[in-house]
Amino acid sequence: MERSLLNATLLASLCASAAGAAMSGQVVRYTIAARLDPVAKTVTGHETLSWRNESPDSISELRFHLYLNAFQNEKSTFIRESGGQLRGDAMSKDDWGYIDIQRMQQAGGADLTKAIRFIHPDDDNADDRTVIAAILPQPVLPGRTITLEIDFLSKLPKVFARTGYRQDFFMVGQWFPKIGVYEKAGDRYATKGAWNCHPFHATTEFFADYGVYDVSITAPSNYVVGATGVEQSAVEDPHTHQTTHRFYQEDVHEFAWTASPHYIRMERLFEPARVVTPAETAATARLLGLQPGDLQLKPVRMILLIQPEHHWQADRHFRAIENALKWWGLWYGAYPYQTITVVDPPFGANGAGGMEYPTLITAGTSWWPERRALMIEAVVIHEFGHQYWYGMVGTNEFEESWLDEGFNTYSTDKIVDMVYGPGYLPVTILGVPVSETLGLPMFTFGELDRAAYLQYGKHDPVVRNGWQYYDSFRYGINSYMRPGTLLRTLENYLGPRLMARIMRTWFERYRFQHPTSVDFEKLVSELSGRDMTWFFDQFVFGTNWLNYKVGSVECDPIEVKLGSYSEGGKRITIDQKAADRIEKERKRKGEPKLYRIVVKLDRDGESVFPVDMRMTLDNGEIVNEKWDGRERWVKYEYAKRSQVKSVEIDPEHKILLDGSFADNSYVSRPAPLPFVKWFANLVFWFQMVLP
Ligand SMILES: [Zn+2]
Repeated sequence: MERSLLNATLLASLCASAAGAAMSGQVVRYTIAARLDPVAKTVTGHETLSWRNESPDSISELRFHLYLNAFQNEKSTFIRESGGQLRGDAMSKDDWGYIDIQRMQQAGGADLTKAIRFIHPDDDNADDRTVIAAILPQPVLPGRTITLEIDFLSKLPKVFARTGYRQDFFMVGQWFPKIGVYEKAGDRYATKGAWNCHPFHATTEFFADYGVYDVSITAPSNYVVGATGVEQSAVEDPHTHQTTHRFYQEDVHEFAWTASPHYIRMERLFEPARVVTPAETAATARLLGLQPGDLQLKPVRMILLIQPEHHWQADRHFRAIENALKWWGLWYGAYPYQTITVVDPPFGANGAGGMEYPTLITAGTSWWPERRALMIEAVVIHEFGHQYWYGMVGTNEFEESWLDEGFNTYSTDKIVDMVYGPGYLPVTILGVPVSETLGLPMFTFGELDRAAYLQYGKHDPVVRNGWQYYDSFRYGINSYMRPGTLLRTLENYLGPRLMARIMRTWFERYRFQHPTSVDFEKLVSELSGRDMTWFFDQFVFGTNWLNYKVGSVECDPIEVKLGSYSEGGKRITIDQKAADRIEKERKRKGEPKLYRIVVKLDRDGESVFPVDMRMTLDNGEIVNEKWDGRERWVKYEYAKRSQVKSVEIDPEHKILLDGSFADNSYVSRPAPLPFVKWFANLVFWFQMVLP
């Protein structure tokens, strides 16, 4: 363990902040005793679950997730949909994962084990075993709590899709019987009370209620154990050489843990006074229209479980997590938990990397990562960001993945691009990183998102059930890069101050709730004071493409017009000779020639967006126009004493959703299309490792 940086004063304040009032509704309470068998790759557990009926309904059926059964055979919905492939990783076909409920009993009451049946609410796959329903002999009345005692056995698969083992490394996620969310009429999109408890799909993540987790994990004493929450105690049984680690956390909706004898456990303290300068606090307060005192952050214990061969990369990990705690905290609100644990999976366990759980995230690095291929930073900051967008703002990842992944892409990109600047794509040849050696171009994350969106962003609307997109590519683009691009477009449209207030209010108003896309739309309209349905209808709920372009530019000299004119009661004739004389006189006086300029702007896509035009003349004069963008085209005519130098539509590239910037300029330059395609593909894989 590295030299402790813990500061006694800060630790005292950290402990004092621990005993606060509940932040969430605490609908569930899990007390679990789990034992890891590292040889059999199993976890045996006893779970005491209390669940409170928050609805006005009498509920006679409970529903649970048994996610590990996604990996039990080739008939599961997960394997059917994914083909056993996820994020470039393949599932092992020689060691399956599953979970069996051995007993489910109402505390002091009926044995429900035989009342359990498997259901498949989203599809016709009767072979899926990831959701169960249990019929109760007596319904749970409104406001009442039911407590269940559950014995279960979880067999972990070889690491795949976020969970499993590799040799003596264990990443234990989605591992216990977990109750679904009962939505009463009026919750999210529910029109009547019903369970929201989806099967485990290939391209979906999770949704659960907030509560308290009190979990004891018994593992061999030489194993380092990390988990959601704060470790309360570690008690060794000297006879068995097993140690029981007790972790406790309130106001979270999930619990995951990891164990390995090889981790190096490092801990440092996030000290706001050391990491955040007064100038940064003041600037953020100005942006948000708040006082610096409103942006006080709290100390946080940063725990890093790193592989020995990556030990030398610890500073990069810690710096990334500090930047995440700092900027998420300043922009949106202080991180309220005491710990954040970062897990570095070993070589060959990539499937466990890049994943978020409350107060515990998994990262992913390699033997020799390039300094400016920002994989460590991007993954750590992204996964940390889920503490906000998924963790505390508890959106439904099955149904509206952009609210976690897209919001997170937007926030992560802002931080990485601001703190670290452009980086290389992590390109390797035979496992050797080559981006810096080959001198490949560097990109900001914002640029990469837009490139990916341009390639794939039109088959589906952003909001769609995760398993119903055209394919997993479109799920990815519509969950990550396209929402990132559309939120930055929204920011450019509304301005950075208003957008900053919107994002902070989103967090403050909806933390520990289950808000929807419609709630966000209403919030944007409310805070902007404008009806923003046009934006959401088109770019969040719709599929129409957006492209504005300069249609044509004409610029012709206005000659002296020949003919007979009546002037002051006298008739004069201007013939060619007279015209030449007038023209000569103009030149002698040094007067510039007059030009007729006609600019046509075209709306090439279906989508409508207010757009700016900027025309620059040879004499330096600049003409700006604002077009509401509604008609298919618009014409502007001018008489100017100079020729046109350039015409640009959306000259500042505010509308990042625009399908092509190449046609935005009168001096049309060919777009680097083949290259865009190349890096769009790369960035897709790059970002798909960040759930
Ligand atoms: Zn993510």
